[in-house]
Amino acid sequence: MTVLIAGAGIAGLSLGLTLHQIGVPFRIYEATSELRPMGVGINLQPNAVRELLDLGLGEELDRIGVRTRQLGFYSKLGKTIWEEPRGTWAGYAWPQYSVHRGHLQMMLYRALIDRAGRDCVVTGARAAGFESGPDGAVLVLPDGKKVEGRLLVAADGIHSALRAQMYPDEGEPIWNGRVLWRATTRAPDYFGGGAMVMIGHDDLRLVSYPISNPDSDGMAVINWIAEKRFPLDAAWKKEDWNRAANIADFLPDFADWSFGWIDVPGLIRGAEVVYEYPMVDRDPLPVWTDGSVTLMGDAAHPTYPVGSNGASQAILDARIIGAMILAHGPTPAALAAYEAGVRPVTTAVGRANRAGGGPDGILQRVEDLCGGAFDDIETVIPRSELAAHAAKYKSIAGFSIEELNARPRTIAEGARIAG
Ligand SMILES: Cc1cc2nc3c(=O)[nH]c(=O)nc-3n(C[C@H](O)[C@H](O)[C@H](O)COP(=O)(O)OP(=O)(O)OC[C@H]3O[C@@H](n4cnc5c(N)ncnc54)[C@H](O)[C@@H]3O)c2cc1C
Repeated sequence: MTVLIAGAGIAGLSLGLTLHQIGVPFRIYEATSELRPMGVGINLQPNAVRELLDLGLGEELDRIGVRTRQLGFYSKLGKTIWEEPRGTWAGYAWPQYSVHRGHLQMMLYRALIDRAGRDCVVTGARAAGFESGPDGAVLVLPDGKKVEGRLLVAADGIHSALRAQMYPDEGEPIWNGRVLWRATTRAPDYFGGGAMVMIGHDDLRLVSYPISNPDSDGMAVINWIAEKRFPLDAAWKKEDWNRAANIADFLPDFADWSFGWIDVPGLIRGAEVVYEYPMVDRDPLPVWTDGSVTLMGDAAHPTYPVGSNGASQAILDARIIGAMILAHGPTPAALAAYEAGVRPVTTAVGRANRAGGGPDGILQRVEDLCGGAFDDIETVIPRSELAAHAAKYKSIAGFSIEELNARPRTIAEGARIAG
């Protein structure tokens, strides 16, 4: 009853760990010849952290990540619009973490091969397509080699080959005109550590948070993302997480963004390498599952990275697939039940992220209302409205505090598949 997984990113590795936990044989086929710690910072919301703790990865997570303590929004003049506690400081039973994506991926990978053996991940094996087979699904590799399994889960990211086979007319991801420059810089930590900040508005913005705890000299590894909007007809190159950028393309736009607690031009100048990436997503799909084959993570629901939710949802997908396999066996019914539970949530999140309904939506509202200049935010937008906006997104994305704290485990302790 082997479950085949295409892609050893955050989604695929989390699914491997989950299937190992519940006693389902699996094998992951990863396109790259060697897993390396690629990317920059991401955030893990308490709902995903809870699942990693249930997988016994709490200590490792604490070693590689920083507990996110606060999220704040600031106008382009550095004025405070809204600040809220996060993770356990907000009342969640589990922390939120800021972590380097590559360190998270390698942590999951090492845990998986320690538990399930090196053979469970086949590298240099790019999924090219799928077929249905006598026992379920068949994964097709580029040399025409075929692997048979009971189920096949596509965790092969935003350029998923298996999604492309299901939706051959879909084409490239959709660009919204914004370009992101992402990097890390060793710089002074601010606001007492663990603080994520979003500064600016839709045309020009900086997001920043530490992904290390501060040294004795107060310096930390600060992850930052500078964003700028271009006309939609501007030519921009295909998205590639690892394309190095030239800071002269955007540094002048941030020249005045020094607010005492953060020196944005200094952060930008201090990075060794900056990666450039157009902000893209895809339209929500009407169906993810074709019999014994389904999509998960970015292959299923790539969205703008504005709500710090992409990697968290990938982990949640893995846990819900595991729970549904426990309930229905490794069958198409399990995949259908997973899709029925998750697709409406990710569709709503993707739409909210597009329509300014993400937590960052208040930045542009403040820019529109007052150009970012105010003495008391209450005179621009009442704090009660800001609080309601923040709570609404958490509820859409499935991590509202009371609901998450009260929710039973996704996978009961010790649960194993029968037989
Ligand atoms: C190299 C890289 C760097 C990233 N950096 C960041 C970042 O800095 N910040 C951020 O917010 N998000 C980043 N992301 C995206 C982020 O990891 C995802 O949005 C989120 O974690 C969902 O994870 P996923 O496993 O669905 O997709 P991904 O993390 O994209 O993983 C997909 C995996 O599938 C593999 N793959 C691709 N095509 C095939 C194929 N045909 N067959 C088999 N395997 C295949 C890829 O090599 C990768 O290992 C990055 C993704 C990648 C691949």
